[in-house]
Amino acid sequence: MLEKIIPELKKLSPKKVAVQLPEGLKSKWEEIEKEIKSIDAEAIFLGDSCFGACDLRDHEAKEAGADVLVHVGHSHMGIETELPSLFVEFYSDLDISKVVKEAANQIPDLKIGLVTTIQHIHKLEEAKKILEGFKKEVAIGKPLGRALHTGQLLGCDISSALAIKDKVDAYLYIGTGNFHPVAVALGTEKNVYIADPEMNRIRSANELADKFLRQRFAKIEKAKEAKSFGILVSLKKGQKREKLAHILKKRIEGEGKKAVIVAMNDFSPEKLMGFKLDAYVSTACTRIAIDDAAVYEVPVLNPFELEIALRKKEWAEYELDRF
Ligand code: SF4
Repeated sequence: MLEKIIPELKKLSPKKVAVQLPEGLKSKWEEIEKEIKSIDAEAIFLGDSCFGACDLRDHEAKEAGADVLVHVGHSHMGIETELPSLFVEFYSDLDISKVVKEAANQIPDLKIGLVTTIQHIHKLEEAKKILEGFKKEVAIGKPLGRALHTGQLLGCDISSALAIKDKVDAYLYIGTGNFHPVAVALGTEKNVYIADPEMNRIRSANELADKFLRQRFAKIEKAKEAKSFGILVSLKKGQKREKLAHILKKRIEGEGKKAVIVAMNDFSPEKLMGFKLDAYVSTACTRIAIDDAAVYEVPVLNPFELEIALRKKEWAEYELDRF
C-alpha cells in the first residue's frame, strides 16, 4: 500500500513512523507494518477516527516518538505539520464503465461536468472518454480550495464544480455517497446525477437536495426558539475556526441570547449534554451538523444556518458551509 512513498520515506531515514488510517483501512495494518519494517523502521498506528486530511495528528505522532507521519486515504490539503508528513491516497477498484454508460444514455443534457471524490479520481479520464463516445461535451474543473485534484470534491470544498458552472448544463458525480452531490446541487442549482458504481444505478441528487432542505428548515425553525447556544470549535488542525466562533458568539449575544464556545476533537451529544444548551452551531467540519443531526436532541446548525435562525439572512439565500 505504501509502495509509492517508500523511496521518499527511505530518504527521511525514520526510526519510528506513525500511521493514520481511515476506519475502513485499519484492517490493512499488517501489510503496512511489513512495508515500514522493510526500511528498518518501527510502525505505530494512531487509532483515533480520521475522516480527512484536515485531521492530521502530527502533534500526537511526535508525542509518541515518531519522526514521520504517514496519512493514508486522503489527498494533501497543504496544512503545515510539526513532522515530515507523507500522504498515500487510496483508490477504489470498482468498475465505473457500466454505470457511466448508463448515465450517458439517461442524461438528456449535452454539456456535462464531471466530479468525484478521491476514491474514484483515477477514473475521471475513463468516464470522460465514455461520455464523449456518446457525443457529450465534458468539462472537469480545477479546484481553488482544499481539494487537490482536478474534478475532486470534498464535503467542505466544491470549488472544482463551481469552476465550470457556466460551461455545463448538468453534473455527473461518480461515487457512492449522497453528501457531495447534494452539496453540488445546492451550490450550483443545476441538475446533478449520481452514477453509483457500487449499486450500478443512476439517481438524482436534486431530489435528495429538496429532502435535505426540508430537514434543515425544520432544524433552523426549532433553533429560532433557542435561548442558549453552544458554539462548537474543533481542535483538529484543518477544522479549527476560532475567529469565526468568536464572531458568532458576539452575534448570538447581540440578540440577547447566551452563547458558550466549546472546543474538542470529536463532538458527541453525551460530551455536550452537561452544558444544558438549547442549540449548537458547529464551526468544525460542515458534515457534523448534517450527518450527525439525528443523534442530537437539539438542533445543530452550520454558521450560515445560524444567520437564518437569527433572522440576519433569508432562507432563499441558503448555502452549505464551505472552508
Ligand atoms: S472538514 Fe470535513 S468535509 Fe472537509 S475535508 Fe475535513 S472531514 Fe472532509
